[in-house]
Amino acid sequence: MISEHPRVRFAPSPTGYLHVGGLRTALYNYLFAKNNNGKFILRIEDTDRNRYVEGAVENLIAALKWVGLEYEEGPDKGGNYGPYMQSERLDIYKKYAQELVAQKKAYYCFCTPERLSQVRDEQQKQGLQPKYDKHCLSLSAEEIEEKLKNNVPYVIRMNIEPDMKIAFEDVIRGSVEFDSNIIDDQVLIKSDGYPTYHLANVVDDHLMKITHVIRGEEWLSSTPKHVLLYDFFGWEKPVFAHLPLLLNPDRSKLSKRQGDVAVEDYRAKGYLKDALVNFVALLGWNAGDDKEYYELEEMVEKFSLERVNKSGAVFNIEKLNWLNAEHLRKKPDEELLSMLKDELEVSKYKGKIFSDKYLLLVIEAMKERVSFVKEYIEKSPYFFEAPEEYDQDVIKKRWKEGSAENILKLAEKFSALQDPVKEDYETALRQTAEELGIGTGKLIHPVRLAVSGVGGGPGLFDILYIIGKDETISRLKRAAEKIKI
Ligand code: GLU
Repeated sequence: MISEHPRVRFAPSPTGYLHVGGLRTALYNYLFAKNNNGKFILRIEDTDRNRYVEGAVENLIAALKWVGLEYEEGPDKGGNYGPYMQSERLDIYKKYAQELVAQKKAYYCFCTPERLSQVRDEQQKQGLQPKYDKHCLSLSAEEIEEKLKNNVPYVIRMNIEPDMKIAFEDVIRGSVEFDSNIIDDQVLIKSDGYPTYHLANVVDDHLMKITHVIRGEEWLSSTPKHVLLYDFFGWEKPVFAHLPLLLNPDRSKLSKRQGDVAVEDYRAKGYLKDALVNFVALLGWNAGDDKEYYELEEMVEKFSLERVNKSGAVFNIEKLNWLNAEHLRKKPDEELLSMLKDELEVSKYKGKIFSDKYLLLVIEAMKERVSFVKEYIEKSPYFFEAPEEYDQDVIKKRWKEGSAENILKLAEKFSALQDPVKEDYETALRQTAEELGIGTGKLIHPVRLAVSGVGGGPGLFDILYIIGKDETISRLKRAAEKIKI
């Protein structure tokens, strides 16, 4: 049963960037919250001081903002359950750890790193699973007090009883059971006074009234420890949902080595946020039909945890590219215009003036032929400058003896036209071909090469109309001079 107003959180550790796996976790939490009229919360889990990265939190927030996953509570937003940065909640974790110590559910451990590694070596030699041997559990109250007084470094550990079954229900994986014998007496407070992930995560999920924990499968093996902690504290457990692993096409775990994993990288490469979000949503979820194209609102409507798969989801970049093209095509021309202008500003045509009317014509001609905004420029540079070079293969195939003279003749014909539209160019070309006694193809192909430098692209007369009469004539003349066979 879903409580009336679920509260879910995305709880990343700031590692420097938002991983696509993190984006998927954030997205599923967001979709679940919105679908159930609940709240989506951002909590930063920054208690591992060795992994601190300057600017990481800002990067994460910027990436979430870019993709449009707005959270109701978070470090930069506030809320009734803050602070939302774990490093600002250290006293809270200490207090709860002490509570468990008082109830003998946790204990001080003063073992030195040397002793711990000796124990581990010994266990490994005997073929046992390395585990803390509960050495400090038998310290007397006096011994503990003495050591604390002398500032002997310590950690606080969970006291996990052997031979227990720890079972819980996972929405995605069904019943899950762990044997307590394989679980180490987990450190809750580290020697630097910071909590471990496990303690901070459980305390915060409880205090922040989180109802559903939706996170990656890599956390499944931590969940029995969390379940025990909830029991130790006597707290109600949230519902757990562990999302399937993300895999490379060779079914290995998604890694940097086989492609980009940072959301920022995809943004920099020109992917649309709508396409990326759509793609990531399909990594482990479908609505039960064959539909693949989704806008965010529709996903919110259709999403359910019950339809998340448990088998790993393969990250298929071709599908992302396809979705990018689909989303791009659905954009209104005005939006494409503003994106194209931004793209021109970072291209070699920066500073060159093109009117909105002109660019809208380019968009209309190229819309069905591009998958990325930058392809408007890469695939049809001839809309932004006259060709400097001409494709050699096309020359070989299409440029014949007499082509130069023919297109000059056509240029002459064009120069007599008054404000020509597309059809006027076509009529003039057909007439010229007739007058020259050649097939229209003998003109069309050389003209295309002359004005664009290449052999393919949108309709020739569209190109001529867009670049205009003067530019067309000048390009024809230039090509007649430059192209040699
Ligand atoms: N801080 C963990 C992470 O980086 C959170 C895992 C969880 O959601 O419990 O993903």
